[in-house]
Amino acid sequence: MNGLTLDDVVLSYPDGDRRLTALDRVSLDVDPGGFTAIAGPSGSGKSSLLAVAATLLRPDSGRVLIAGQDTAALSPRRAAELRRDRIGIVFQQPNLLPSLTALEQLQAVAHLRGDSPKAALPRAAQLLTAVGLTDAQQRRRPHQLSGGERQRVNIARALFTRPAVLLVDEPTSALDRTRGAAVVDLLATVTRDHATATVMVTHDLTLAARADQVLHITDGRLR
Ligand code: ADP
Ligand code: MG
Repeated sequence: MNGLTLDDVVLSYPDGDRRLTALDRVSLDVDPGGFTAIAGPSGSGKSSLLAVAATLLRPDSGRVLIAGQDTAALSPRRAAELRRDRIGIVFQQPNLLPSLTALEQLQAVAHLRGDSPKAALPRAAQLLTAVGLTDAQQRRRPHQLSGGERQRVNIARALFTRPAVLLVDEPTSALDRTRGAAVVDLLATVTRDHATATVMVTHDLTLAARADQVLHITDGRLR
């Protein structure tokens, strides 16, 4: 399996003198180029599932494989490298740096990896064009872009390192329905074009239905 695998994952949080089970034996396989949506109500475990898949939280039991690698075997340092290089994460609110243009947001990723921002410019421009931003928009800072355009920058930035896995948490919550649907359709396109194993979580069933596969989560259980 070269995409994302969750195998019988259990995750709990401390809850007074007991523990709250946020993920209850969750198993999931997403192939490269596959786009899976996970729909569920607030508190059902969606963000917890993404945090485990992103190796930000370690499960109580079960396994998480990224591009065939069992992440439990990795040192914290290797896990951080894997996260940086192989996992693209798109959060609910585009967490862009306010002082940087769209192009610079992507060049900053290269800089963080110790690569030359200048050498990164062609790829940054190519990705931003692919997500639908004009040359002029690519030179704007976040406050000069609409919510939908900012989310497109966020998606382009997540693709910069050629991730095997793309994890997306409620990408459309700040957008109206039409723009939200357009962002989900963009995710479908980039999943095909970049062969990412993509998981999007959402409470919105209509948006989830635009993915290749829809799973439902309630009380930490996937079906
Ligand atoms: P969703 O993203 O679907 O709204 P979450 O994964 O955020 O759900 O939360 C799942 C459950 O775990 C909820 O009951 C929530 O209150 C609980 N939870 C989430 N994060 C924590 C935490 N850091 N500590 C304790 N409980 C948490
Ligand atoms: Mg959430």
